[in-house]
Amino acid sequence: MHSCCAPCTTFPLALLRSLGYSVSSLFVNPNIYPDAEREKRWTTMRELASAEKMPLLRSDMGHDRWLEAVSQNLAKPERCLICYRTRLDETARTAREEGYPYFTTSLLLSIYQDHEGIVREAAEAARRHSVEFLYFDFRKGYRRSREMARGKHLYMQKYCGCEFSFGGEPS
Ligand code: SF4
Repeated sequence: MHSCCAPCTTFPLALLRSLGYSVSSLFVNPNIYPDAEREKRWTTMRELASAEKMPLLRSDMGHDRWLEAVSQNLAKPERCLICYRTRLDETARTAREEGYPYFTTSLLLSIYQDHEGIVREAAEAARRHSVEFLYFDFRKGYRRSREMARGKHLYMQKYCGCEFSFGGEPS
């Protein structure tokens, strides 16, 4: 599972496990700015993975590469679609390379993101890398995920991630 952050991973992880899936997480979030914020979210992700005994990988894709990609069109919704594409393509590529049969993403939890756009980008990434995308509408668990994160004392960020979301666009 692509994990955008620890709070958004809580509910999807619990749901997937309840369905019998064995879940590993990939932190591939070059969108997060500045570096200190990305490291803070990564540290929180490690805390959750350790507590949940969940294997955790991290992609080393840098923010510069992400910025180059979204610079094609910084206006929304295109910027966010390119952002999803960058992260989901890397997730699908990694799944294929590491031998995972499926992938999904915690982005599907958010009630603020472009859900249909995420689904489209994930499906295209799946086709490009010949690996299966597992779709779940995790949004029903959004409120529950906030309770779970608070209960686990996880750091909860105040903005989506990139420098263009500093104004308070939620994740
Ligand atoms: S607002 Fe969020 S989804 Fe949109 S480009 Fe920025 S980090 Fe990506």
